[in-house]
Amino acid sequence: MMTYLEAAHLILAEAGSALSEEEMVARAIAKGLIKPSGKSPVKSIGVVLRRASQNPSSAFENAGPRLWQLKDSETDQPLSMREAAHQILKKAGRPLHYREITRRAIRLGMIRPEGRTPALTLRARMGDDMNRNPETPFVRVGDGTYALKEWPLTPKAPAKKRQDCACCGFSPRKAYGDLGEDALVKHKEAGFKDAVLVCGNCQIMLKRTTMAELKTLVAEFKKPALKATPVRKPRAAKAAKTR
Ligand SMILES: [Zn+2]
Repeated sequence: MMTYLEAAHLILAEAGSALSEEEMVARAIAKGLIKPSGKSPVKSIGVVLRRASQNPSSAFENAGPRLWQLKDSETDQPLSMREAAHQILKKAGRPLHYREITRRAIRLGMIRPEGRTPALTLRARMGDDMNRNPETPFVRVGDGTYALKEWPLTPKAPAKKRQDCACCGFSPRKAYGDLGEDALVKHKEAGFKDAVLVCGNCQIMLKRTTMAELKTLVAEFKKPALKATPVRKPRAAKAAKTR
């Protein structure tokens, strides 16, 4: 027989994904890892996992209500997100945005591109490390941009990129926060030298019309609307209907 913690670790490592407390207990009992007796093994496993996960070096992390998973370092990721970020920054020798760190780490096979949002996971891991680990190698030097503490002078974060649509002025960064980072797309108009950054909506519109045209249209729509006379049904007619 194993402790609940040992059993949870084994079951989660085998599953390679998050599992509910019920599912973990069911699998652990089916494998004979824990006894099906006791008052409520599901409750107990929840208690020990919650307690264990408060320790920063714990292998477990909460993945949702009564849902648990092993941290990356415990799964078969080639490197932990934290270690990958450290190596990438070291190699770069200059501050990088977390999305760029993720891109490079994936390209070099340090982390797997699996999961919906590897970049957000990586940023969360770096944030965890900076919050909890006094020896953390990371320091945040700008919006989503990280450097290494060991660098003598924290170099300036790279200049801010344009963050709003060149056509309509929409800013995904303002609308969606960090998730909106890098959400603008390049658009190059025939006859123009440089590409500009536009939002997804304008990108679609630019398949139908030119940039100049679209800008005019947008400006037109942004003007305060002319006061239209509301069209109302004559009261008499309405009254007549209900009668
Ligand atoms: Zn736009």
